[in-house]
Amino acid sequence: MADQVLFPKLREPDDTEALRFGPRALTYRELAGLAGAIAERVAGKRRVAVWATNTLETAAAVIGGLAAGVAVVPVNPKVGERELAHILGDSEPELLLAEPGFTPPAGLDGVEIAEIDLSARGSQLPAEVAADAPALIVYTSGTTGPPKGVVLPRRALSANLDALAEAWEWTSADVLAHALPLFHVHGLILGTLGPIRLGGTAHHLGKFSSQAIAEELAGPATMMFGVPTMYHRLAEDAENDPQIGRAVGKARLLVSGSAALPAVEHERIERLTGQRVVERYGMSETIMNCGVRADGDRRPGYVGKPFAGVELKLVDEQGAEIATSDDETVGEILVRGDNLFSGYLNRPDATDAAFAAGWFRTGDMATRAPDGYIRIVGRKATDIIKSGGYKIGAGEIENCLLEHPAVAEVAVTGEADADLGERIIAWVVRVPGQDAADTELADHVARLLTPHKRPREVRYRDALPRNEMGKVQKKALQKDSGNG
Ligand code: ATP
Ligand code: MG
Repeated sequence: MADQVLFPKLREPDDTEALRFGPRALTYRELAGLAGAIAERVAGKRRVAVWATNTLETAAAVIGGLAAGVAVVPVNPKVGERELAHILGDSEPELLLAEPGFTPPAGLDGVEIAEIDLSARGSQLPAEVAADAPALIVYTSGTTGPPKGVVLPRRALSANLDALAEAWEWTSADVLAHALPLFHVHGLILGTLGPIRLGGTAHHLGKFSSQAIAEELAGPATMMFGVPTMYHRLAEDAENDPQIGRAVGKARLLVSGSAALPAVEHERIERLTGQRVVERYGMSETIMNCGVRADGDRRPGYVGKPFAGVELKLVDEQGAEIATSDDETVGEILVRGDNLFSGYLNRPDATDAAFAAGWFRTGDMATRAPDGYIRIVGRKATDIIKSGGYKIGAGEIENCLLEHPAVAEVAVTGEADADLGERIIAWVVRVPGQDAADTELADHVARLLTPHKRPREVRYRDALPRNEMGKVQKKALQKDSGNG
């Protein structure tokens, strides 16, 4: 198996900036020295956990661990006691790296802790590591059961990051600004390891704010990566402050992912900044599957085409490939390629169930347009509503409701119904001061889409349950009503 140097510039470092977290930064020379020190600390170990706060320490610890060839387990610092005990019991790290002053929470008993000292320096980075060695073990959100550890080999990281670089014309000259958490694929692999693999720069904002992103993009930053809730906030703030829109408009590339970017949000960002957002689609198990290229057509609602090295097909309920590209026939997305994980840790049952003849079943449903563009319709488990003999995608109804002036946020789910099989429920957060009767919202959908897509009930909430990535937790909503 070929050897893998994940970060070539750490072997020939210079004094350009690698990572910046607010006022604190590391040059490549400093990062290489620090990675060397961390590598010495973890040498001979198999797995090391990192307490993944949004800090320079976390980024350096992951890079140092990867440079040393150990498997790194980033731990969401917000997980509760039981989940933490599950993650540590499952991944059995020999050491946990954390920032200085770290106070171990309950659930951490028995794990040796090492503090990361940014001024530590080591000399030599160890030899190259096999491409199929595990690089990261990333835990899923646990929406459907206890979180599963996704084992990502080094090959998946290098192959996928190189494909993204090609598609987005992403180079060492780029400065990426973001505020994504560092325990997920998005903020960690794309947002942190991506720039370092390319020899470029990552600026982490700590916490998201439109003002901070605007300052970055008016200044050194060339790209922004964000989740849809961040683009929503950016649009809201730019409505009130045109300077924000002008600054964001200077970006070379705005990229959105982790959840669907509503079409209205895409159009608002364009109106306010003059920039069209590039959307991409990926998951912990596959890193990035498809996306719009830098020189590609940026159409609202579409996640572009498969990245280089990714094979993608749509299949029907019987598992037969859907050959048509009519942008109407919905199928499940299956993928294959070097970007894939090697399995769920300690879960051969779940790993087996996730694959069909070598293809990974994503659980996401989509259509393909004549030009090959993929449009995600939703998740098989929660977003496909079977009502009155129709299969209806929640996303389309959500996009439609968001166009209504009284709707600030919305999630659409299905609920058991004696007549229809399932009936459509719309969960709505209202725009303050804007009132609309339930029937008006339901009529709006029936008028713009088709009558069978009309919500049978509208339920108002002050907020929707979302995780750290801003994803709506539909299972929690359904529980809320005593269903599912
Ligand atoms: P769990 O697997 O524990 O239930 P999760 O699937 O939410 O959690 P991730 O791997 O972080 O955890 O998220 C991947 C999912 O996010 C994809 O399967 C897809 O449903 C959704 N997703 C990511 N990007 C997009 C996008 N651009 N448009 C629509 N959905 C997206
Ligand atoms: Mg998932």
